Amino acid sequence: MTLSLSAKAKGIAPSPTLAIDSKTKALIAAGADIVNLSVGEPDFPTPAQASLAGIAAIVNNFTKYTDASGIVELRRGIADKLRDENGLDYAPEEIIVSSGAKQSLYNIFVAILDPGDEVLLPAPYWVSYPEQIRLADGVPVVLETTEATGFKVTAQQVEQAITPKTKAVLLNSPSNPTGAMYSKDEIVALAEVIERHDLFVISDEIYERLTYGQEHYSIARVSLGLRDRTFVVNGFSKTHAMTGWRVGYVAAPQHLVKAMASFQSHTTANPSSISQKAALGALGTFDPATVTQFRARRDAVLEAFSRLPGLTCASPDGAFYVFPNVGAWLGQTYTGLDGSSVTVQTVDHLCELLLTDALVATVPGTGFGAPWNLRMSYATSMEALQKGLTRMTAFFGRFS
Ligand code: PMP
Ligand code: GLU
Repeated sequence: MTLSLSAKAKGIAPSPTLAIDSKTKALIAAGADIVNLSVGEPDFPTPAQASLAGIAAIVNNFTKYTDASGIVELRRGIADKLRDENGLDYAPEEIIVSSGAKQSLYNIFVAILDPGDEVLLPAPYWVSYPEQIRLADGVPVVLETTEATGFKVTAQQVEQAITPKTKAVLLNSPSNPTGAMYSKDEIVALAEVIERHDLFVISDEIYERLTYGQEHYSIARVSLGLRDRTFVVNGFSKTHAMTGWRVGYVAAPQHLVKAMASFQSHTTANPSSISQKAALGALGTFDPATVTQFRARRDAVLEAFSRLPGLTCASPDGAFYVFPNVGAWLGQTYTGLDGSSVTVQTVDHLCELLLTDALVATVPGTGFGAPWNLRMSYATSMEALQKGLTRMTAFFGRFS
């Protein structure tokens, strides 16, 4: 065979979060009683106002191409939301809507990276960041953090990693997978280094409403100098339980948005017209009771974990994930329900056993740059969560 795939295609693996979720959903469809704590997808329904707006869009034949950046009513609504909820001042021309924040992020990397340009990426990171940076010919430069430092990078750590090739710093607060959040003071300290070294900031704020103590503070608020170099990334998937509608957006200075819009106009043209109307319907519908429920679930998980000796888990300040360290069990012997024993060497193996033997789906930390951890989403009902936790406790009890 002389026809081969590109080096890029050969180098890319499927998103592990989506791969495990689809495997789990297939097993559930086939009748398996699995508790799915893998994918980051709220169990709440899409707000009725959003669904009805989507239906109206179909009925009213709002089913044609739109402006590549998204319809102006939606961009205006997003500008209002950013002003009222986040203290950020953007004009509709400084906003581009895309098919999910995932596409928003890819647009950014393509817009700013030349081959070999480096992006500073704090680990643990969301699985798609390094892959997208590489797909855009950039180089992810990983900055390690630990549970002891709250899974956060310091300004000093960022400064030490800067080279003549550094183009941008990626911040994700609250974080997927750790739930870590940067305080205003920490953001201001990072901003000072970023501005002094003339770097872009990609600030992924998709979990910004899901916080359990401190308020989210966007780096774009620090000063006009910061606003000019920041891409604020957000979307409807998490806050409005609209993962399947695929609507995300970026706010940034107009010349940057224009560059992304040109690229988008040649790739997907525009986000779905129907989904854009649904997103417009969703604006302003966020129910704070969601946060109360997520907090209760987080606390239930942490409480169950506190009774599992060997496991350590930082308390997340936001998002809907826990990221426990399960290193104590790696290298240990697990005795399965069928009586056979096996030494578990990696977190991938551990998560595989957790799925097949304990019927709990989680995501190994490997794809997040953390091979001692696993990620559990608590965006599921308390009942399912309790069932999953009981199974996990029994599972870890079968190690010796
Ligand atoms: N950023 C982070 C940190 C995420 O966890 C996700 C997961 N969906 C996304 C961006 C992309 O979200 P979407 O494409 O569904 O808007
Ligand atoms: N971001 C979510 C997660 O990490 C959804 C899946 C994905 O897009 O990776 O589980």
